[in-house]
Amino acid sequence: MNRIFQATFSALLLCLPGLAAVAAPIPIMILDGESGGPYHNWKLTTPVLKRELEETGLFKVTVVTAPRSDGDFSNFKPEFSRYKAIVMNYDAPDWPANLRAQFEDYVRKGGGLIIVHAADNAFPNWPAYNLMIGIGGWRHRTEQAGPYWYWKDGKLVSDPSPGPTGSHGARLPFQIVTRDAAHPIMRGLPPVWVHVNDELYATLRGPGKNMTVLATAHSDPKNKGTGHDEPIIMVLRYGKGRIFHTTLGHDVFALSCVGFITIFQRGTEWAATGKVTQKAPANFPTADSVSYRVDIAEMDPAFLKGASPVVAAK
Ligand code: ZN
Repeated sequence: MNRIFQATFSALLLCLPGLAAVAAPIPIMILDGESGGPYHNWKLTTPVLKRELEETGLFKVTVVTAPRSDGDFSNFKPEFSRYKAIVMNYDAPDWPANLRAQFEDYVRKGGGLIIVHAADNAFPNWPAYNLMIGIGGWRHRTEQAGPYWYWKDGKLVSDPSPGPTGSHGARLPFQIVTRDAAHPIMRGLPPVWVHVNDELYATLRGPGKNMTVLATAHSDPKNKGTGHDEPIIMVLRYGKGRIFHTTLGHDVFALSCVGFITIFQRGTEWAATGKVTQKAPANFPTADSVSYRVDIAEMDPAFLKGASPVVAAK
């Protein structure tokens, strides 16, 4: 009933002269409420993600906080279908079966999904979620999760080698290399740019189905890396649903990178609508210099105290 009313109301708005060009904001859910440890402070990062989406003027963001996975889900009714896309700022080991089924149904029927950083640590034993994210790490994932995926000789390859699932070195700046410049999320961005201090995820495993890698970063053996060009930005399909997945975004400082902000804003629009209308900002990072927003970095009290990672000189 309510949905019918909203649809009718929207249709009426579109008929009014002078208002036709003003599109209604795209409803987006940010889902948070749990992380795998104290190192992912979702209470600090959710307001950052919300602000970055809303400042585009394109989105209306609702934050939905889930109970802890060992808590009571009987009153948790997230109404996924009211949103064009869901941003997962969330990492939990498991969900009740009926909630998993609702989520799968939502994405399969065309709901958008955005996976930020440790959201690809979540749900190691949920096959559909692992198809949606393509690759993931930690939470006791093994070779059973699937092969490693990385970029080699100009293409994405899978590697069934044994070894750890999920790793990263110290948080240093690193270069991001575009691998699909024609994709709407990447269009007009520099082919190479430097991201601020962040975790460079490596040794992720997964089914890797319907996955297109848009950008990679070289995992440096001198910083506990693999020597591979690791997937950093990717898009996937699950049923009719579009998924945008980036392994970037460990903390508020990482989220303050103009490169991260741009691909997050664009990736969310693409997951929600299939299109990207946003232009690249003039202060986008370059191949040899970072660019970050102090107004965002300051949303972490530690940054104000000078305790945040300082961009290391190379
Ligand atoms: Zn992290």
